[in-house]
Amino acid sequence: MANPFTEEHDLLRQSFRKFVEIEMLPYADEWEKNHTCPRHIFEKMGEQGFFGVSFPTEVGGSGMDLWAAVTIASELAYTNLGGLAMSLYAHTYLPLPLINAIGTPEQKEKYLRPALEGKKIAALGITEPNAGSDVGGIITKAEDMGDHFLVNGAKMWITNGTMADFIVLVTRTGPGHNLSLLIFDTDTPGFSAVRVENKLGMHTSDTGQLYFENCKVPKANLLGEKDFGFYYLMNNIQEERLIASIMGTYAAEWALGKAIQYSKEREAFGRQIGKFQVLRHKMAQMAITVEACRSFAFRAVAEFIEVGPEAIQTISMSKAFVSEEALKVIHDAIQIHGGWGYHEDYGLARAWRDTRLMTIGAGTTEVMHEIISKMIVDDKQYKRQFLKARGQAV
Ligand SMILES: Cc1cc2nc3c(=O)[nH]c(=O)nc-3n(C[C@H](O)[C@H](O)[C@H](O)COP(=O)(O)OP(=O)(O)OC[C@H]3O[C@@H](n4cnc5c(N)ncnc54)[C@H](O)[C@@H]3O)c2cc1C
Repeated sequence: MANPFTEEHDLLRQSFRKFVEIEMLPYADEWEKNHTCPRHIFEKMGEQGFFGVSFPTEVGGSGMDLWAAVTIASELAYTNLGGLAMSLYAHTYLPLPLINAIGTPEQKEKYLRPALEGKKIAALGITEPNAGSDVGGIITKAEDMGDHFLVNGAKMWITNGTMADFIVLVTRTGPGHNLSLLIFDTDTPGFSAVRVENKLGMHTSDTGQLYFENCKVPKANLLGEKDFGFYYLMNNIQEERLIASIMGTYAAEWALGKAIQYSKEREAFGRQIGKFQVLRHKMAQMAITVEACRSFAFRAVAEFIEVGPEAIQTISMSKAFVSEEALKVIHDAIQIHGGWGYHEDYGLARAWRDTRLMTIGAGTTEVMHEIISKMIVDDKQYKRQFLKARGQAV
């Protein structure tokens, strides 16, 4: 496909790269070592307008297309701070597109605008201790008490969970798929959050376990229509999966670059290791895989721009393919580095453990296969559900 990036995207890339070089790279190792998710980076990203690149100007964004988001994601992947990158995109591309799509003007002013400005941190709370892939199994309850909802339950693995000022919370308001989205202020009495420690990777990301005990949520904080939450989520998650495909692609490209560089520096048996055919061919294969990931992810972005969340088949395929294949590229980059690939100093150990999440988060590979097989084997149409989500007749 033709290069989708315009001069405007290139200018954005230059200014964001400078931001990353000044504000992130000098501190990256320290944050990783101390498992720090730096709050001030959210504030600075917001001040500089980097959160709002692909949001409309009416809500404080810069009104660019999704390729602007791709530009930011690609530069973030090059920081090799997978955790922080995930926290930043869990703020921007998980809860905020939902508020942008279905929020009231008041909700957009109160939550979306300050979040894009970096004044409030956002999270999306779907997963529970006993319900991850099976979103229909969610039991966190929002009881309709007339003038407010009463929320009781728990959430698990929520990115930005202990830092967030508000959470777009998925709650049960009826049987089956009757879920509703609430914008939940984390200063609500009865709420508590504990940081999840001992993760394999994503150390620069805040992950929380959340508890809700008789929390009162005003009716004004219902996002979209009551009981339609499941369908809103299905629409929204497509964007999340797209960004995951992009991040995976660039993480693999970063690792390939490291492998090529190292293969020219390291010598064994009196020659550069990059002269061994077996390693040259490995790098050729890695480059093919990176290009395949890029083609797939870019095609998914282009299709999403054209038809929206109905690009579900391509997006699911892209997410499944990139998350598995990117991991293989990083695995091979570690191999090419020999013992140093196993050490923190070269960054590949970090890249591997962070990218390992990609086949699990935003829908596991098995769930992607399930969606794809339903579409290609059972000829299942998701269109009706998307129409339902928009409140149209089905
Ligand atoms: C670091 C981190 C950050 C996260 N951030 C967030 C966040 O911000 N917000 C949020 O809501 N969630 C978040 N998650 C949760 C994540 O989305 C879930 O972990 C993921 O969806 C899988 O759910 P689960 O862990 O309950 O696994 P399970 O659903 O229990 O799956 C276990 C295994 O069973 C397989 N399986 C399940 N169903 C099927 C099926 N139908 N067919 C075949 N195989 C199946 C899965 O593929 C997997 O291999 C995060 C997770 C982590 C680790």
